[in-house]
This record gives sequence, structure tokens and C-alpha cells, in this order.
Amino acid sequence: AFDLSKRFAGPTRLFAPKRYVTAVDRISLAVYPGETLAIVGESGSGKSTLGRLLLRLLAASEGRVYYQGEEITHASGARLNQLRRELQIIFQDPFASLNPRMTVEQIVGEPLWLHQKMGKAERQARVSELLGTVGLPAAWARRYPHEFSGGQRQRIGIARALASGPKLLLGDEPVSALDVSVQAQVVNLLETLKQQLGLTMIIVAHGLAVIRHMSDRVAVMYLGQIVEMATVDEIFDAPLHPYTQALIASAPQPQPGIVRETPLLQGDLPNPASPPQGCRFHTRCPFATDECQQREPITQVLEGGRQVSCHRWQEINRDRGVIQIAPP
Ligand code: SF4
Ligand code: MG
Repeated sequence: AFDLSKRFAGPTRLFAPKRYVTAVDRISLAVYPGETLAIVGESGSGKSTLGRLLLRLLAASEGRVYYQGEEITHASGARLNQLRRELQIIFQDPFASLNPRMTVEQIVGEPLWLHQKMGKAERQARVSELLGTVGLPAAWARRYPHEFSGGQRQRIGIARALASGPKLLLGDEPVSALDVSVQAQVVNLLETLKQQLGLTMIIVAHGLAVIRHMSDRVAVMYLGQIVEMATVDEIFDAPLHPYTQALIASAPQPQPGIVRETPLLQGDLPNPASPPQGCRFHTRCPFATDECQQREPITQVLEGGRQVSCHRWQEINRDRGVIQIAPP
């Protein structure tokens, strides 16, 4: 994706000029075949919107989206239908938008009928197979979603997403509605499927804990922009941006007794409709200076391809002694 932006119209008021929320602000990024890219940020950071722009579930206000070298920004008709099959989404609550009177067979089989016009017998066989793929008994095809636990429902949602034979799966907080004990099972399932089917994955999450073991690279978003992008190990072992550092420091610590060096995140997320000038993080950043209030930082691309958008990342990280980086 190149220079992608998405604006939504805000609530309209009489005699007031129309207001816009820029949910995604001039983002460029690439997702590589076979990788899992995590997009992390608080609610209101634009992470779900970015995911939907990349899948062409939403049309960009500005910028371009490419898929396998082809520009798909304005794809429509048959091409868009084809893309719908190849680029699939798993929702946090897979049944929120579905008719509760549909059986599992209808839910999982719907894409087969819609996209592939598959006949009934063939569809039933394929649904049984898909249920097996996600670890559910084929006999459950006749049941209704309310008969299942959250984890089982998410498996059904995954089976439905797999029905059309996708190449890329976007999980929009796929496990955040589930109990912690069930989360690991669904994460493992996604990992296994990715290997077996050679999928590329994008995982959208509000916390770092879930994505640690299932992603290759991480993009950290704040108020519509990517503030840091790096491999998962770089993000966890040596985060460079103060916001990433705060996110990691506020995640539950696996080893008790570790002294926090970084202050926790202070204050609330500013209103995305009127983001702060300069660096958008300056209202919550412990390192903010006058320059941060006035000038927007330019994204710096470091050796190995990691990216950071902060005026002071070198100073900050030299002070913390966490990482030594030669000046670019
Ligand atoms: Fe903090 Fe300034 Fe860096 Fe923004 S640019 S993250 S305010 S130090
Ligand atoms: Mg969301």
C-alpha cells in the first residue's frame, strides 16, 4: 500500500462545517507473502480501518493499494469478487452480522454457494472437510451458533473464511473476545492453518501479548499513523519509539520483580477528530520537547528495514542503554 488515507465524515450538525476524522493518515506499508504482520494500537488508532483498506473492504480516500503487483485501489465487478475470495477476514465476533437461524452448514457453506455456485451435495462434503480442518466434528454442521462456546464459534468463523480458498487472512482481534485459556488454542489453530495452507496473515490487535508468538513483523499505530514497524523480536527486545516502549511496559510482565524503566502510558488517547499538532504522541510522551509540539517527525528507515517516527529516538534509546545504534 502506498500513501494510504481514509477519512470518515463525522456527525453532521446544522450550520456547522462538515468534520472529518482521518482514521488512516498517509500510511505506506508492504505485507510479504507467507508472513504474519501484526497491526497493534489502542481503539481509535485506525488499525481495523487500515486492515480493511488493505483488503479492499473499504475504499481509500487517497493513496493506492496493490495486490501481487496489481493496483486494486479501484477494482470493481468480477475482479473485486475474485479479490473477496482471496482476501478474507475473521471478525472478533464472527456471528454479529449473521442470521442466528442459520445452521453451521449454511454459515460455512454460504461463500461456496455465493462465490463458487457449488451444488448442495458438494457443498455438504466441503463443509464437513472445513469443519475437520478447524478441529470440529462434521456432525455439528446441522447445529446453530448459539449452541457453541466462544472458541467453537470462532473456529466456525475461521472455517467460513477458509471456504473460498483465501491467500490472505486478516484477523481483526480474532481472539480478544475469548477467555485467555481458549485464546491460545485459537492462536495455535491459526498458526497451523497458516503453515498448512501457505497463508499470509494480518493480525489486528490492541495488545502486544497475543501477537508475540504469532507474528513476524509488527506495525504499531497511533492516531492513524504507524509510529514504529519492526520484526517481532526487535519490537519486544528493543522497542525504539516511546509509545511502543509504553505499550510493552504496560503489558503484563511474565517475570515478576522486573523493574520498569519506562513510565507507563499517561493520559487518554486524544480525540482522533482533532489530533495534536506536531508529533501526535506529544501529549502523552515523557520525552516531549517544544520541537515535538511543532514538527511532525519524519519516518526513518533503519538498517534491516525497521522504521521509527520520532525526533528523539536516538537520544532516548542511548539514554536507556537498551540499544546502541550507529547514527544513520
Ligand atoms: Fe515523544 Fe517527541 Fe518522539 Fe513524539 S517525537 S514520540 S513527542 S520524543
Ligand atoms: Mg477495531
